[in-house]
Amino acid sequence: MEHTNEMTLIFDSRPVNEGLARVTAASFLTQLNPTLEEVADVKTAVSEAVTNCIIHGYEGEVHKIRMDLKLAGGDLFVDITDHGTGIADVKKAMEPLYTTKPDKDRSGMGFTFMEAFMDEITVESAPGKGTCVRMKKTIRR
Ligand code: ATP
Ligand code: MG
Repeated sequence: MEHTNEMTLIFDSRPVNEGLARVTAASFLTQLNPTLEEVADVKTAVSEAVTNCIIHGYEGEVHKIRMDLKLAGGDLFVDITDHGTGIADVKKAMEPLYTTKPDKDRSGMGFTFMEAFMDEITVESAPGKGTCVRMKKTIRR
């Protein structure tokens, strides 16, 4: 059986916990002996996904965010899930510069950064149900 390692962090959608999620992912990843650049990439992607849950998913209300981390065969898998507003048109939401909150200093680049810094990203979402962002990063050997 392939060697894997998994963990889950469930936390309140408070801005202070964004740093917790970022550092947890980075710390868990150290088992794969990543470069500093790879760690920075993962931290950025986690930050963007968690910020989206806080700002868009729960619109500032405090509910739970779940982060699932899995290491398998040199790959890191990060799933970040909220049970908030959801996204009606995922394809459109992922376009560069697309934002539904242009008034609040949002630049619409979150998904673009996640795509740039991770190797794969898929987004599952349903209005009124929530959003799950699944990302994968292969750590160079
Ligand atoms: P930036 O990330 O640059 O501050 P942004 O958050 O608007 O701006 P993206 O992160 O690319 O940009 O997200 C694009 C849009 O997708 C958001 O404006 C929002 O409408 C929607 N969205 C993203 N994540 C979620 C989520 N977890 N729940 C609901 N809607 C979301
Ligand atoms: Mg964003």
